[in-house]
Amino acid sequence: MSKPRLLLFDIDGTLLDTRGSGLGALLDAAEEVFGVPRDSLPPLDLAGATDGGVVRKLFSDAGLPMTEEHAQRYRDSYLGHLKRRLHADVFAGRLLPAVEELLAALGKHDHVHLGLLTGNLRIGAGYKLKRFLIDHHFIDGAFGDDAEDRNLLGPIAVERMTKARGHPFVVEEVIVIGDTPKDIACARALGARCLGVATGAFGVHHLSPHAPWQCLVDFTETERVVELLVK
Ligand SMILES: [Mg+2]
Repeated sequence: MSKPRLLLFDIDGTLLDTRGSGLGALLDAAEEVFGVPRDSLPPLDLAGATDGGVVRKLFSDAGLPMTEEHAQRYRDSYLGHLKRRLHADVFAGRLLPAVEELLAALGKHDHVHLGLLTGNLRIGAGYKLKRFLIDHHFIDGAFGDDAEDRNLLGPIAVERMTKARGHPFVVEEVIVIGDTPKDIACARALGARCLGVATGAFGVHHLSPHAPWQCLVDFTETERVVELLVK
């Protein structure tokens, strides 16, 4: 019998593309809660970032002290705007190529368990996955509310999935799937393999120098991807 396999998926750029709804909502919340125009803030680099880290940077850019109460107001505002943008008539987001096929195919393997390893706040992750009806594939994971440093999220994800599934996962059986050099670094910090996928802001030639275990253009060769992930 195969050992339990744990696949930890990133969300943005890996499973889906919100076409800027996440960034838009972060800036909506900055305008609403900080009272600063979005154009006055320095650009945000969201690729592989955690929402916790981004919120801290926004407070710093706005020159405001980040009290827990103020940060909570900011997060609530962000989540409200995110939900509104995801369901707006002009929403142009999409699932990335062959994601539905891949998740369905992985679901047929009893020894394979799917979790999340994402910088999104837990509630925001839920909004994004539900928008595309893929939330039911994932039981638990680690999120941007757990740590500002993505490299700390791996062990949290493994621990939560262990509790959710009722059995441990050895690190040799864990694969992190993500679209940025930060996903690759996060897998390395955990001691796990990383499958890089070039459907976000980074091409294969940008990801490969970071030495992921495997690197794909996208998931369209679904059978090959499943083979890689389950064997
Ligand atoms: Mg990503």
